[in-house]
Amino acid sequence: MTEIERKQDRSPVPSAFDYAPAPESRDVVQLEERYGLYIGGEWVEPRSGEYQPTVSPATEEPLAEVAYGGAEDVDVAVGAAREAFSNGWSSLPGSERAKYIYRIARVLQERSREFAVLESLDGGKPIRESRDVDIPLAAAHFFYYAGWADKLEYAFPNRRPQPVGVAAQIIPWNFPLLMLAWKVAPALATGNTVVLKPAETTPLTALLFCDVLRQAGLPPGVVNIVTGDGRAGAELVKHPDVDKVAFTGSTEVGKAIQRAIAGTGKKLTLELGGKAANVIFDDAALDQAVEGIVNGIYFNQGHVCCAGSRLLVQESIYEPVIAKLKRRMGTLRVGDPLDKNTDVGAINSKEQLERIQELVAAGEEEGAEIYQPPCRLPEKGWFFPPTVFTNVAQSYRIAQEEIFGPVLSVLTFRTPDEAVEKANNTAYGLSAGIWTEKGSRILYMASRLRAGVVWGNTFNRFDPTSPFGGFKESGFGREGGLQGLEPYLDFEGKPETFGG
Ligand code: NDP
Repeated sequence: MTEIERKQDRSPVPSAFDYAPAPESRDVVQLEERYGLYIGGEWVEPRSGEYQPTVSPATEEPLAEVAYGGAEDVDVAVGAAREAFSNGWSSLPGSERAKYIYRIARVLQERSREFAVLESLDGGKPIRESRDVDIPLAAAHFFYYAGWADKLEYAFPNRRPQPVGVAAQIIPWNFPLLMLAWKVAPALATGNTVVLKPAETTPLTALLFCDVLRQAGLPPGVVNIVTGDGRAGAELVKHPDVDKVAFTGSTEVGKAIQRAIAGTGKKLTLELGGKAANVIFDDAALDQAVEGIVNGIYFNQGHVCCAGSRLLVQESIYEPVIAKLKRRMGTLRVGDPLDKNTDVGAINSKEQLERIQELVAAGEEEGAEIYQPPCRLPEKGWFFPPTVFTNVAQSYRIAQEEIFGPVLSVLTFRTPDEAVEKANNTAYGLSAGIWTEKGSRILYMASRLRAGVVWGNTFNRFDPTSPFGGFKESGFGREGGLQGLEPYLDFEGKPETFGG
């Protein structure tokens, strides 16, 4: 470490540069008082008769009442999806399906500001992230899969790809519109119809998306949205007329779904939890690596399945990395998700906040050392400061369990092989990051890490052309890329083989 670097690390974070508030206007969003279910291209009252409020996690203020679909509602929605599948959508030429999907992508772009504000309002994520990441990526997914709709024969030569039928899609609350796009876009491109259940705490962008479907002129019943809680998800999964289930969420619910559909012949993809290792070697560009650590764990309050929640630092650079990290953490602004200066927004729900608090308490009890930069949390709403734990043993709960919050656990290693062993020492296998100057070391590590996605000198980068998915308890199946089409297709022929 040079003298200059040492001085920088000791100097306090400049506090004179306070940011004036820069709130994004809420006026662009027109909320209804009450939302029904979107079935067969119409808004319908739930047969269950149940409505519940959805609240802003930053202020605890109720935003709107949302229908809670029950078994009967799910049955009607699946019926509408089946009818749309049989009466035109599945036999439409791919080039015609593509037109609708392109239109959806374009309308999403046109209305991106409205979607970004609504996403931050309902889910608590900083507006900077919904504006610059969630919504542009959601539109990009529709653009990307629109391009495949008329090229399936080329994507899968000699295999005669056919749509599967009705897809049940269940999504979580951490990237509501983006997870919708990851699921709906490939399903439509391949000629399937959809019943989607958004998460209980973040239904509003999925409901606004219904308006986009109408604008795009999508035929009724091709996409149906049934809001509600886990009960609606469970009903959807077990419905006999569903052909494929796509789920993103907790490993626990993923396992329950797998048990529920065992033996039914339904196709299944599961994208579950993670406990990713972000591995920093001693030759890495440290300032960039620190940015990567911060982005890896504090992006979206750490509500990211592929978050870099375990930091593995080579022992020789442990001290400067931790010093730089703590200094950088002191500059993170926690607060109003709708303020354009905010880095860390609100925790999505009271339940999630309690889960984070419980795991942080467990970390302290087990003997890890906690650091939180001084920061004032808003009085209302659910917030948690950026947190780092040092002195962590691999057996601690904070090193094994998914916290799904802005909490980082730091471990050290000496050799690449030790880094591989520690990185793989978890039940999960969704993602990993490697920071080093050496390309060969990235390849060495990437081929040994049991993780579906491995980032080199970056973290949390997403692209619709790139497949995403896990190993082990992080699930199976891939979303994104060419691979993301396959779970929505049946094949008549065998894959092309070479050389017998
Ligand atoms: P869940 O797995 O419960 O929620 C994901 C989705 O599944 C939601 O739409 C949920 O509905 C629905 N669901 C719940 N129960 C069932 C069921 N039996 N059958 C079908 N669908 C169901 O996640 P939680 O919101 O409870 O979060 C708990 C933990 O899961 C987090 O702390 C985090 O560790 C992890 N998680 C991981 C995610 C990931 O992307 N890997 C995403 C979200 C959470 P509803 O919202 O109404 O409960």
